[in-house]
Amino acid sequence: MSVSGLPPYDPSNVFAKIIRGEIPCRKVFEDDWALAFHDINPLTPTHVLIVPKGPYVSFADFSEHASGEEIAGFVRAIGHVARELGLGGQGYRLLTNMGADAGQEVAHFHVHLFAGQRLGPMLALRAKQGT
Ligand code: AMP
Repeated sequence: MSVSGLPPYDPSNVFAKIIRGEIPCRKVFEDDWALAFHDINPLTPTHVLIVPKGPYVSFADFSEHASGEEIAGFVRAIGHVARELGLGGQGYRLLTNMGADAGQEVAHFHVHLFAGQRLGPMLALRAKQGT
């Protein structure tokens, strides 16, 4: 088990294939540290995924094992994407799913960027419960 409670990094995951150019994506941004592309199943008018180039399973893995340069580069890339998409004024939400309880589907660390509409309460569960 890795630090995430997920299996060790598997380079055949779909985001690794996108980074290597083996399968296509609708690219938004790329630099030495990160790749950003549109989610294939968007949940909001703007739904972009930002992934680090390095082989990290999850946020837990990335935050423990990535170098300071990788972490800084990745965080700056997220900010760059939001600016490039012109989202500073209207706002946006960043989200990462870590492990089973969060429902993480792809075991390559990624951050979702949601924007383009009022995003509502933080958690759908809370909205349903009316709390
Ligand atoms: P998560 O549940 O946080 O692991 O999110 C995985 C996300 O990856 C989902 O929103 C999927 O729609 C998205 N996804 C899966 N395959 C692709 C792909 N080939 N290109 C773009 N997005 C993808």
